Amino acid sequence: MTLLIRDGTIVDGSGGKPFRGDVCADDGVIKVVETSASSPGRCPMADETIDANGRIVCPGFIDIHRHCDVAALRGDFGLIEISQGISSCFAGNCGMAPVPNAPESRLSLQNYLEPCLGSFAKEVFHTHSEYLKRLRSVPLAINIGFFAGMGAIRTAIKGFENTPLTLGQMVRARSFLQDALDCGAFGMSIGLIYVPEIYSTAAEIAGLASVMKGGKGILCAHMRWESDRLVHAVREVIDIAKKAGVPLEISHFKAAGVNAWHGVLHEAIETIEAERAKGFDVTVDFYPYDCSASTMMQMLPPSYLAMGPEEAIAGLDKRENVEKIRKLFAEGEKDWDNLSQTRGWNRTIISSVSLEENRKFLGKSVTACTKEYGYRDEVEFTAKLLHSENGKVSVISRSMSQDDIDTIARLPYSSLISDSLYGNMENPHPRLYGAFPHFLRDFVLERKVLDLSEAIRKMTSLPAWRVGLKNRGFLRSGYKADILIFDPADFIRCKGAQRLSALR
Ligand SMILES: [Zn+2]
Repeated sequence: MTLLIRDGTIVDGSGGKPFRGDVCADDGVIKVVETSASSPGRCPMADETIDANGRIVCPGFIDIHRHCDVAALRGDFGLIEISQGISSCFAGNCGMAPVPNAPESRLSLQNYLEPCLGSFAKEVFHTHSEYLKRLRSVPLAINIGFFAGMGAIRTAIKGFENTPLTLGQMVRARSFLQDALDCGAFGMSIGLIYVPEIYSTAAEIAGLASVMKGGKGILCAHMRWESDRLVHAVREVIDIAKKAGVPLEISHFKAAGVNAWHGVLHEAIETIEAERAKGFDVTVDFYPYDCSASTMMQMLPPSYLAMGPEEAIAGLDKRENVEKIRKLFAEGEKDWDNLSQTRGWNRTIISSVSLEENRKFLGKSVTACTKEYGYRDEVEFTAKLLHSENGKVSVISRSMSQDDIDTIARLPYSSLISDSLYGNMENPHPRLYGAFPHFLRDFVLERKVLDLSEAIRKMTSLPAWRVGLKNRGFLRSGYKADILIFDPADFIRCKGAQRLSALR
């Protein structure tokens, strides 16, 4: 089928100046992109013609960071994504993935990941090949790619144990990663703030990631610290990637926590740019909001979680365990980003629970809940809530400064992502539904942090190049016809964003 899109404002993904023109595509491949003046006759026999006068015509958006591993298997997957212009997305981020999994730890993995990925309790896949087969069994409305998650690999080998991989275990880990790459994974992700990867040494991660040496994949890193030790964290992942011989993408780059604002970020950027100047391939991504979101479990001290997340949660009704974590929260522990201090209980908002009796906490900070409902302190409240919910609580954290996000948005090597979570569909962070249009409206149309062409480059050709997609991300002859047509005037402030700002 030949399609002609006539007379639109073409933003081709390169960051170059928009121009008025036509796009002609045949059987899903772009044939001609040209200015309106020169077009007559180049696409004469179109089966369908779309008049794009007054609209932007650009490549479909590419979101390299969604947590849609399990959501992609639901029948309605794609609606949320296509509604905001996304035509390709990537799962398996932050070390989290439903595969590989081993029979003895599968349930723990599923329970731990559920607030971020949604439930896969009823799915039967254990390996990447089985997961891929399952993915292929559903009609997908958009393109989907994935990364291997180091957290899942480690859990499949040794559960949530807090010891490094032995030599024999490293051999198995490498074969799991190889299997994922053979199934088409674009690289490996790590989430060094989460158990069990928090127990991984830099040498261990580099040893595993080196499977991807020679252009077989990239390393996407959710770093060990995102607050006062940001520079140290950047240094750590750069050293890991250099040692492994792989390109590095720093995931959801930010300076989190009030004490980290307006300072460490600039030092972290200098560290990155010094490496880029030396020729090391490191890039970053970000989402366009000043609040982050995750599972509340990630706030617990790693030495307490070492017994395994399920036992740790079950034990939170015991006075001695609450005392133990109270002490850890107050004193901290080595190499742990203690979010209760760096981001603060008062900036941590409860965003999802499963029990009716806990719904009264929704939309309130941990500190507010503690005071309003008469708990001794935030630690007691957190312990009781996580225990009653079996750990399945999501939080939104008011952790970033807009100035810092704008600084990251202006970096020529930063891609836009959403970091969408699919565990909590009732009261999610608005990035799930609106990250891409919100970016255009807020950063381009209203506050003018970037111009339209540059913003679209960050949502198309830059992420495509980053993950190694060779034929998407540009409106150019020979590229796949993932084409988006929209009118920016249609953008309205989404309800989620309103709700989020109402939390302040
Ligand atoms: Zn992450």
